[in-house]
Amino acid sequence: LGGSISRALHQMSNATIIDEKVLNDCLNEITRALLQADVQFKLVRDMQTNIKKIVNLDDLAAGHNKRKIIQQAIFNELCKILDPGKPAFTLKKGKPSVVMFVGLQGSGKTTTCTKYAYYHQKKGWKPALVCADTFRAGAFDQLKQNATKAKIPFYGSYTESDPVRIAVEGVERFKKENCDLIIVDTSGRHKQEAALFEEMRQVSEATKPDLVIFVMDSSIGQAAFDQAQAFKQSVAVGAVIVTKMDGHAKGGGALSAVAATKSPVIFIGTGEHMDEFEVFDVKPFVSRLLGMGDWSGFMDKIHEVVPMDQQPELLQKLSEGTFTLRIMYEQFQNILKMGPIGQVFSMLPGFSQELMPQGREKESQAKIKRYMTMMDSMTNEELDSSNPKLMNESRIMRIARGCGRPVRDVVDMLEEYKRLAKIWGKMKGLKIPKKGEMSAL
Ligand code: GDP
Ligand code: MG
Repeated sequence: LGGSISRALHQMSNATIIDEKVLNDCLNEITRALLQADVQFKLVRDMQTNIKKIVNLDDLAAGHNKRKIIQQAIFNELCKILDPGKPAFTLKKGKPSVVMFVGLQGSGKTTTCTKYAYYHQKKGWKPALVCADTFRAGAFDQLKQNATKAKIPFYGSYTESDPVRIAVEGVERFKKENCDLIIVDTSGRHKQEAALFEEMRQVSEATKPDLVIFVMDSSIGQAAFDQAQAFKQSVAVGAVIVTKMDGHAKGGGALSAVAATKSPVIFIGTGEHMDEFEVFDVKPFVSRLLGMGDWSGFMDKIHEVVPMDQQPELLQKLSEGTFTLRIMYEQFQNILKMGPIGQVFSMLPGFSQELMPQGREKESQAKIKRYMTMMDSMTNEELDSSNPKLMNESRIMRIARGCGRPVRDVVDMLEEYKRLAKIWGKMKGLKIPKKGEMSAL
């Protein structure tokens, strides 16, 4: 995929006369690539039309960086498709919210319910899981196992066959127990069928969810739009989670799901385990879709954000797969030095959304400063180690004492480090581009 796009753009940059035909050829080539990534035909066609309106042939002819112009235009268009124009409904901690999960059987609902609960539990929520899947044998056992592992309260039944009844009972019980995130897992069936949608409608009517999340397997291909639309027509889907992004699928169906439900993608599933779950980030996702690799744009950003003299060393370390606490510290320094425009830095994988949500720059900066204070109490060995086991209890206690912060805060900082290390660890084996190669696809 990436290959064909680069080829197309390459041909274009070599053409001496930039005319409409060349642009068309290039767009056609990219169209094919996007279709291979399961982006819906109609979306691709619309995008093509928009690109033609946006890309000014005169600009191209005038010798501007043609590849860059087209690349940017396509990138922006795809990002726009993924933005439904409004954020997902935000739940309030401490106030009982009901979240209902829907999706076909096998899409990953039960797994994702637990991931979602676990994710929020770590952030101080009190989640609970309700199994309203009475269709699949063993559904309750599966949820029970997951919930037990994560120490999350659960509710279900081996004998009751009415999903509406279980859902209502579970929700009531957990409301009484002051849980603030009550998650209802539903059944899926193998096919889109009337009985399933009627069941979803009834469960939704009875439990009045604050948010309905549509779970979609990234590998379902062109079926994504119809599937998402079918669910949207029976329940008020307000957000999408795309699963199995660790597989081969590039997940182009996510664009269809957003278009069909007019709801944003909020998380992606990247494995079978509880913590293989990431906040959805539009830009890296689109890069991957275009076959630009998860980290394209990243290089550009490194060059923009990280001071010149630090770049080779940082890239070298990242290509070796070592993201130490010291590297994190240095990147924090860069962010703070940049002041309000630290936002640019939020383009770097992992630094956006979670660490530096938009509109909350002040808080983010305070958090970063707090982290750095704690890291000032660390030894060189700790800062330079790439061994996660090094940070044992006694070291954590010593650091907490040293910086005068609660142990909880130090643990929090180390969690953040682990999260970033995991994301940046994917840079391992990265080919370090020479200067000037940065913007090539
Ligand atoms: P449900 O029928 O919609 O409840 O789907 P399940 O939660 O039972 O998941 C179906 C299968 O997909 C299980 O084997 C899960 O382990 C697997 N699965 C779910 N999410 C992911 C993911 O993000 N990555 C991978 N590799 N497997 C997943
Ligand atoms: Mg299930």
